[in-house]
Amino acid sequence: MRKKIVAGNWKMNKTFDEAQALVSEVVNMVQDEVNNQAEVVLCPPFPFLSSVGKALGGNSKIHLGAQNCHQKESGAYTGEVSAAMLKSVGVEYVILGHSERRQYFNEDNQLLEAKVKAALQAGLIPIFCIGESLEQREQDLTFEVIETQLKEGLFHVTNEEFARVVIAYEPIWAIGTGKTATSQQAQEVHAFIREQIARHYDAAAAANTTILYGGSANPGNARELFSQPDIDGGLIGGASLKSRDFTDIVKSF
Ligand code: PEP
Repeated sequence: MRKKIVAGNWKMNKTFDEAQALVSEVVNMVQDEVNNQAEVVLCPPFPFLSSVGKALGGNSKIHLGAQNCHQKESGAYTGEVSAAMLKSVGVEYVILGHSERRQYFNEDNQLLEAKVKAALQAGLIPIFCIGESLEQREQDLTFEVIETQLKEGLFHVTNEEFARVVIAYEPIWAIGTGKTATSQQAQEVHAFIREQIARHYDAAAAANTTILYGGSANPGNARELFSQPDIDGGLIGGASLKSRDFTDIVKSF
């Protein structure tokens, strides 16, 4: 059985005190209210990883994730953070290939291939993001774009490594726009991703991979999205900054 996951991507938001307040609210709410088996992942900005990790206090339902890592193990890369550094402060997951990083930091599939390798080597679980722009969807290129992103950025890993990877389908036109993909649109792409996994690896790998949806998910639409057969949870941006909304999404299975 594949895992259900709801991951919160805090992006470049919150000060230290605000981050502490948010994590303690989420810990309390999840502790008191969440009975399902969904795994929760919090992805705060780098400077808050240690303190957020401490606040989780070994809580078995909530895990720590980062929003990026560098592809090299160590060295003269001023301002960068390696996968091993993340691992050493208790990080378990790392978001890679988010569309904002592809767009604003020129991350392409070749670079992401190296980042995925670095993350896996350090023992982190990559949450590998893929998704099409509105223009690409309108030109009927969605499946082609998804296939290329998977092939070039992810499918170089071995079967064994692939078993540790989580995929997030995030249509760019739905991220932070308030425009959610319909559950039908999301399901269609998730099913396609699973087909690609089966083709490249095997049916067992396809069946066991957790595939998250991301893009303006909120407490009002999460239940419908998560009820789709190939949607195993969500990568949540805006709504993860509010403890009530985020917890309600975690409860939406
Ligand atoms: C995201 O950035 O991963 C995301 C899904 O953002 P939002 O939920 O705000 O659309």
